[in-house]
Amino acid sequence: MAGANATSYDLPPLPEYTLRPLVPLSSWASDAFIQAALPVVGYWAVSLVFHAIDVYDLFPQYRLHTPAEVLKRNHVSRYEVFRDVILQQIIQIIASFSLSLFDEAPSTGKADYDVAWYAQKIRLAQRLVPYVLSTVGLDPTGLAKKLAPAQPTLASVATGGQYPGLLQAISITGESTMVPAFASWEVSLASFVYWYGIPAIQFTAAIFIMDAWEYMLHRAMHMNKWLYVPVTFHSRHHRLYVPYAYGALYNHPLEGFALDTLGAGLSYLLTGMTMRQSMWFFTGSTIKTVLDHGGYAFPWDPIHWIFPNNAAYHDVHHQSWGIKTNFSQPFFIYLDRLGGTMYKGNVEEKYERARRTAQHKLDQELENEAKAAPAESVVVTVDENMRPQGASTPRISRKKATSISLPAGNFKDLTNMVNANLHGRRANVLGMESSH
Ligand SMILES: [Zn+2]
Ligand SMILES: [Zn+2]
Repeated sequence: MAGANATSYDLPPLPEYTLRPLVPLSSWASDAFIQAALPVVGYWAVSLVFHAIDVYDLFPQYRLHTPAEVLKRNHVSRYEVFRDVILQQIIQIIASFSLSLFDEAPSTGKADYDVAWYAQKIRLAQRLVPYVLSTVGLDPTGLAKKLAPAQPTLASVATGGQYPGLLQAISITGESTMVPAFASWEVSLASFVYWYGIPAIQFTAAIFIMDAWEYMLHRAMHMNKWLYVPVTFHSRHHRLYVPYAYGALYNHPLEGFALDTLGAGLSYLLTGMTMRQSMWFFTGSTIKTVLDHGGYAFPWDPIHWIFPNNAAYHDVHHQSWGIKTNFSQPFFIYLDRLGGTMYKGNVEEKYERARRTAQHKLDQELENEAKAAPAESVVVTVDENMRPQGASTPRISRKKATSISLPAGNFKDLTNMVNANLHGRRANVLGMESSH
């Protein structure tokens, strides 16, 4: 039992409260485990959607890169990416779950007390109103008298929060006593502050903390050669010149821990979020990272309207010519602007060149295959369309069709190879006839 039945009753008193353990969200897992596991579930759920979009080639017009680029430009296979992401996520779950063991067991039962605490502050803040009115040349007492018949609440505010008629009976040591009560608008405003205002501030602060942490570390990883050494640190993430959704967390495990796990942990601790709040924040920031590596610049993506760091913006950072720019992640880009690290040049030509080179490489391979075993002829068509993007995103447009004669058997093998490498065994993103 706790409370604050203060002896002075010019303020409405705070109610007593009793803390009780919070009922877990699920009967089969603790909240701490769900907090650790939900971002992983979100990661793969969104990645699967993007994978399906890739496999069935649902939005070729919004692709940032062609399938030929995915095939020819990345320095790591999809299997290796998948394996390393799983490894990192296991580390992430263990770290997050271990950290949560140091937290106090979540409890509930204090909400009414907290709402009343904010209501008291609202009542106290009203004491400033007469001073403000006098400063702007109004007479608070005269104003209150005029307002009293029609607007008694406004009259009370004008006099500095005096509500003489608002009383409640409470029991102190068995005796009923009349004490001041809150006006309904004070309780409503306090509830809004408690349930929405404070969480909004916490989420906003967490976003800024995470952005700052990731920018600082990410920039250091590119500027300091010891943090960018081949095979180990951040260079691993940059084996993906053509990012795809589930490559978002393809990092060296140490980097993943320092950048994502610690960044999220810091946001959580510094903002004083509850475990349930952090559950949604971690999952949201993870999904945001997946979207930024998705490989698509959709014109109707509300998340990227709110947060300007989008797939096109981050994609520039994955290109050899843009790698020393666009370090911001995962939400806003103002730190690149402040730090002078935002890519300023025209990207359209560079994207077009990369596309042509990858296409040429693929064509060359197909031709070599054809020359190696000339036989019955089939036609391969690679037809990709990209719609121009908005001004802030790389403008990409292409229409390339390639017809090559190939032997039927080899063509089947090649198709399978291309599709298996790109999107798994049953994929058919190049629009070729598949044997499956
Ligand atoms: Zn980087
Ligand atoms: Zn990236």
